[in-house]
Amino acid sequence: MSVFDDISAIFKGYWTTFSQMLEKPVTIQYPEQRRKVRTRFRGRHVLKRYDNGLERCIGCALCAAACPSGAIFVEAAENTDEARYSPGERYARVYEINMSRCIFCGYCMDACPTQAIVLEDNYELSFTDRRQAIYTKEMLLEPVPPGGQPTPQKTEGGVDMPPVPQVVVKRE
Ligand code: SF4
Ligand code: SF4
Repeated sequence: MSVFDDISAIFKGYWTTFSQMLEKPVTIQYPEQRRKVRTRFRGRHVLKRYDNGLERCIGCALCAAACPSGAIFVEAAENTDEARYSPGERYARVYEINMSRCIFCGYCMDACPTQAIVLEDNYELSFTDRRQAIYTKEMLLEPVPPGGQPTPQKTEGGVDMPPVPQVVVKRE
């Protein structure tokens, strides 16, 4: 290699650095700026409701059975017409997910017969204590939609299970 090649290599290096100075920065100023997640991103779970406010979860625990890391705990209880949480016979009285065990595989979402549990786009999970990693039903349940009623609701003569509609996961 000649001296000319050495000098040329130095100037090539300078040019690479200089040309990058003219590029638009790729740094995202998180948390002020948030990057859109991919369509199939699996973030924190949400327990969904029907439009009338009733909870989709019927406490069947199929999600817990499908979970490969034993992260889900479900305890079911009976609905009554005086205090109805979901259509059908039962609802989840206790629903917990241990996020420190979860591997975000989405098997729980696939196993759910009522599309009650959905992994959405929230990736802001942090905790400093193992107890904080346990997300309870109150933390997971989505807010009552406009026009709906909070649970428990008072109903007459039972509520049949509605046909399972398609859940559209909204991405901003
Ligand atoms: S995403 Fe996977 S690991 Fe996490 S709770 Fe669901 S089934 Fe279990
Ligand atoms: S989230 Fe779905 S699978 Fe899990 S207990 Fe509720 S209805 Fe059953």
